[in-house]
Amino acid sequence: MTDFLDLDRRHVWHPYTQHATEAPAIAIARASGASLFTPEGREILDLISSWWTTTHGHAHAGLNAALAEQAGKVEHVMFAGFTHEPAARLAAALAERLGHGLTRVFFSDNGSTAVEVALKLAFQHWHNKGERRHRFIAFDGGYHGDTFGAMAVGRGSGFFGAYQDLLLEVETVPFPATWDGDTEVAAREAEALERIEKRLIAADGAVAAIIVEPLMQGAGGMRFCRPAFMSALVDLAHRLDTLVIFDEVATGFGRTGTLFAFEQARAPDIICLSKGLTAGYLPLAVTVMTERIFETFLGDSFARALVHGHSFTANPLAAAVALRSLALFGEEGTLPRIAAIEDRHRQAMARLAVHPRATRPRVLGSVLAFDLAGGSGDYKSAESVALRDHFLAIGLNIRPLGGTVYLMPPYCITDDQLERAYDGLIRGLDALGKA
Ligand code: PMP
Repeated sequence: MTDFLDLDRRHVWHPYTQHATEAPAIAIARASGASLFTPEGREILDLISSWWTTTHGHAHAGLNAALAEQAGKVEHVMFAGFTHEPAARLAAALAERLGHGLTRVFFSDNGSTAVEVALKLAFQHWHNKGERRHRFIAFDGGYHGDTFGAMAVGRGSGFFGAYQDLLLEVETVPFPATWDGDTEVAAREAEALERIEKRLIAADGAVAAIIVEPLMQGAGGMRFCRPAFMSALVDLAHRLDTLVIFDEVATGFGRTGTLFAFEQARAPDIICLSKGLTAGYLPLAVTVMTERIFETFLGDSFARALVHGHSFTANPLAAAVALRSLALFGEEGTLPRIAAIEDRHRQAMARLAVHPRATRPRVLGSVLAFDLAGGSGDYKSAESVALRDHFLAIGLNIRPLGGTVYLMPPYCITDDQLERAYDGLIRGLDALGKA
């Protein structure tokens, strides 16, 4: 029954994988709610929502129905010169839910391309206004995807060393990460804001935009910042006539407790969404901007237009599922459920934070995270791989990001399943032994 595993080993190149050293991939034959099942029927709790995509749960009946219904109507149509109901309705629903003048939706199909579009948009917005602004400001520890523009603004993540010579001009500024009991955050925030202001002034109008993951850096290690810092950043950028791009690819759709993280601070000029957009079902992304930005692209010449688009732009199947998913947030009381998960996380953190191997405890919405006390913190350190393997052996999909251990479960997770996760975390830390 699992003869395809041999085919996988011989023919498939997996993402973010060193094939020379990593164990073979685990086959998943079925999924339901917060659980994955192997072909032999072994259950693995998906505590990181399959790369942070799954929101309402795997194989959700309502989403399955929306997908099947759309497949019976139109599965795909090119999006230049054509449109369809799911895309138009989704764009309108997003504009309404986002508010703050974020009214114009450009579709693409993954987080990296949503960012790539945002960078091109920001650059060309100024170009169309007759200004040459070829620089971006991004944050240390920021991650925005794997395409070239996204790698450039994510250079502070440390993932892209091999490509440094090929990346466009980006200035990286410090991210004032914080955690429970941190007493020095205000000073770090003030320093970061001062550095950004100086850079903007020194660049003398050459910065097109500042890009940031609001409230929480994901791949950089679930690093949180305070909402007041985000608001101050937006105010500063606007005072110095610079666009702000919020990359909410990971934080969007409830992860930080509100539907969008920016709701806890200020709204950006451009926002990137993907992952939870389709509840984790299908590849789809949007870059949403203000009408003021859209209008700079209007005119008689094609050169003023945004010359960008992918074969699967605004795929109808994905758009139909995304529309249904957005409605589910109201119908299933998803945000109150996230608040309940946050409460449970905080209670569990009281137990976890006293463990000698846990430090910098932090909880935000559905995300619980802490760092390993001692250890190297390297992305694929021996300790981080050992922990991941330990969790898998007890039926938990928890993949530490270097020295950071975190949970980001689907919102349908039950209280019993959460308890299993917290117990598993303690057992994992115990198994690591002393630092
Ligand atoms: N931005 C952020 C904040 C992300 O977390 C990610 C993916 N982890 C991306 C962009 C890239 O998204 P994708 O992997 O879908 O290209």
